[in-house]
Amino acid sequence: MLAVRLHGPRDLRVDEIPDPGRPREGEVLLRVRAVGICGSDLHTYRDPGHLIGIQKSPLIPGHEFAGVIEEVGPGVVDGAGRRLNAGDRVAVDPAQSCGQCEMCAAGHPNLCLHLHFCSQFPDQGALCERMIVPARTCFLLPGDIDDASAAMLEPLGVAIHAVNLSHVRPKDTISIHGTGPIGLLILQVARLRGAGEVFVSERHPWRLKLAERMGGVPLDPAAGPPAEQVMNLTKGRGVDLAIEAGWAGELVQEAADAVRPGARVVLVGIPEDDRLTVSHATARRKGLTLVLCRRMKHTYPEACELVRSGSLDVRSLVSHRFLLSQAPEAFALNDRYERDVVKVIIDNE
Ligand SMILES: [Zn+2]
Ligand SMILES: [Zn+2]
Repeated sequence: MLAVRLHGPRDLRVDEIPDPGRPREGEVLLRVRAVGICGSDLHTYRDPGHLIGIQKSPLIPGHEFAGVIEEVGPGVVDGAGRRLNAGDRVAVDPAQSCGQCEMCAAGHPNLCLHLHFCSQFPDQGALCERMIVPARTCFLLPGDIDDASAAMLEPLGVAIHAVNLSHVRPKDTISIHGTGPIGLLILQVARLRGAGEVFVSERHPWRLKLAERMGGVPLDPAAGPPAEQVMNLTKGRGVDLAIEAGWAGELVQEAADAVRPGARVVLVGIPEDDRLTVSHATARRKGLTLVLCRRMKHTYPEACELVRSGSLDVRSLVSHRFLLSQAPEAFALNDRYERDVVKVIIDNE
């Protein structure tokens, strides 16, 4: 079968590899239908050693995905306890927690001490024709959620978790720093939870426009520092909470500068240099609570319902679609942030 594998920095190839074999107990064989490219995939694409340690073999990227079950192991049920059969369409949670460790027992599978994750060494990702996945990481899809939207349930789960961590209350004013796919989903989830004005800082104009269409108040990058604009627009008070959802870096300081004293600042983005940089004085004088978002937990059923019911728009984020064999082209485009890219979906023919 075909698989897209990373052999080194920006060296992505379409390779012929052996089929994954048959599912054992607790597993299903999935025919992958759609895979979204995530910012974290781009990190790995640029620097494969950065997240996966010593790379012993080529890595298949991709962790936002959905597919059709081709074959099931004995007695398998999905993450919500529903029986799975061949032909079922499912979205897959790429995280496989152990269910046994201290963190899992405490209800934090996202912090599992023995976590496996699709596309993080030694586990392979979803940019291939078929793969074996644990049945409990699958979630049955209603017929009216298409493949691309189903792949979007994964980043939507991260957005839901980030908003949960923000403790947003109705009418709270918010600033979101960085509105790539995750930021745009955070914006929509926050508004569904009754947030007041949501200010949006984003350097790519087409993404800022999309954020405005989704109800955000855009901050013009040409009109001075975004945090200053937030201060002016809130009459010097600052917003009730801020969420950083870009590539961290200077956006963390921007978020800290935009909030009122006593606020929460949720950090979702992953910085290229692996450093968290914020003025200690700002954080201390304002008595800020900095919350780091680690993946997500228990979000698939809610994400699925939000999309099925039409409460939330994931389709407008899908800017480009490529076939599996065109994945190298898709990554190159996303890496260069060209052609109004928001979310790239890779479809299996
Ligand atoms: Zn992701
Ligand atoms: Zn665990």
